[in-house]
Amino acid sequence: MARRLGFDARMIEGSCHCGAVRLEVASAPVELTSCACSICSRTGALLTYHPLKDVRITGATDVYMWGDRMIEFHRCKTCGCFTHWLPVDKDYDRMGVNARMMPREIWSGARVRYTPGPD
Ligand SMILES: [Zn+2]
Repeated sequence: MARRLGFDARMIEGSCHCGAVRLEVASAPVELTSCACSICSRTGALLTYHPLKDVRITGATDVYMWGDRMIEFHRCKTCGCFTHWLPVDKDYDRMGVNARMMPREIWSGARVRYTPGPD
């Protein structure tokens, strides 16, 4: 079970390498996903998944989409770090956050789940 902190408690914070994109999540990750889809395997992301309301992102990002264009992959405009993905359809209440943007001590003890992912 994720440790639920809520937005009124201390948030888990992270940022891209240059600090322009900042993120906050409501719970520390206990499980990370190493997805083997064609983009995640290239970025090396370790993902945590959240309802949209549980994550705050600030800062300018560029968006990359491909294939069926269902998911926006966001990366920092300045340093290029892949920070998160969002569904194009915002009624789909799930997003992915790259836990590698968080301090290492936040995620280093989490279990890593390997998934094949879509292409
Ligand atoms: Zn950056």
